[in-house]
Amino acid sequence: MKNYNISLIKGDGIGVEIINEAVKVLDAVAKKCNFNLEYKEYLMGGVAIDKIGHPLPKETVDGVLKSHACLFGAIGGEKWDNLPRHLRPESGLLKFREELGVFANLRPAIVYDELTNASTLKPEIIKGCDIMVVRELIGGIYFGEPKQNDGQKAFNTMVYTKEEIQRIGKTAFELAMKRDKRLCSVDKSNVLEVSQLWRSTMIELSKEYPEVKLSHMYVDNAAMQLVRNPKQFDVIVTGNIFGDILSDTASMVVGSIGLLPSASTGNKTSVYEPIHGSAPDIAGLGIANPIATIESAAMMLKYSLNEEEASNIIQEAIKDVLKDGYRTKDLASFDAKEVLSTSQMGDIIVEY
Ligand code: ATP
Ligand code: MG
Repeated sequence: MKNYNISLIKGDGIGVEIINEAVKVLDAVAKKCNFNLEYKEYLMGGVAIDKIGHPLPKETVDGVLKSHACLFGAIGGEKWDNLPRHLRPESGLLKFREELGVFANLRPAIVYDELTNASTLKPEIIKGCDIMVVRELIGGIYFGEPKQNDGQKAFNTMVYTKEEIQRIGKTAFELAMKRDKRLCSVDKSNVLEVSQLWRSTMIELSKEYPEVKLSHMYVDNAAMQLVRNPKQFDVIVTGNIFGDILSDTASMVVGSIGLLPSASTGNKTSVYEPIHGSAPDIAGLGIANPIATIESAAMMLKYSLNEEEASNIIQEAIKDVLKDGYRTKDLASFDAKEVLSTSQMGDIIVEY
């Protein structure tokens, strides 16, 4: 029987609740498909600060690097917001991504047929929408030096090297080749130098992919177009901060931020996590939607473990559960037949 080592980082807030549901579903599908998953838990974020005084223990990075894949919940919360910047949960996460070299963050935003009629957006605008946001994850303004805040003046620096742009560009073009061969590169090249290099590099790279129709959009317009007519997009490639914002925007097209999974990949171990954060406002209430995390686990099975059948089983189960009207609270207004708690949602996905 095949055996896979999975590193688990539950983190803070709803992170614990949603990862537990994903593990429940993973175990059920592993049994059905005849493979074994061995989990090891590692600390990161606020919980690591509380236990060892630092948001990213070395054992976490080492352990994840040795595993086949990492399933990640979410980190952060008000309790740690006033710590010095380098000791905050978010600094641990950025360092973690950097250490793993996960430069490409793939964020599929797919509208379920079952949710289209109840959306606040018109069904004809969103029905069948299937977008892949490719977000650069270890560069740009979240990482650039110098940065400072001395209380009187503060700044960050948005930096991209040509090599970094080519690397994420290649990932996006390759993905577009496997999909509808339409790639929209999002930047702000009318204002930012770094975006000019981004755009010219994408144009240069497009010569290697003559079949892919490359277009360009400024980020402000892209945010508007995502809501106005999301189906015009197939693959979107963009930098770290723009990708962060645009994928949260895309979540409203899909229906809830609790539905969007992601895969972060590079040349080492890949990390699978929902696009949302630790949602401190609803932590411990048992109302978080675990579907984004369960979908992330399905992506892990497909991309890192090559267990495509198991991955499909999960995805079909989620569709069927939604078709039958089961919803968590965030989707209660979407033609709900029954509103379930976080763990009831995990249970019912296992049952299907
Ligand atoms: P981050 O900086 O880590 O992305 P954030 O500040 O963007 O975090 P989130 O934690 O993503 O914030 O939460 C944004 C909003 O979405 C909150 O109101 C939260 O309750 C809600 N939310 C996030 N995840 C879920 C979920 N799985 N189910 C239901 N609601 C969620
Ligand atoms: Mg966010």
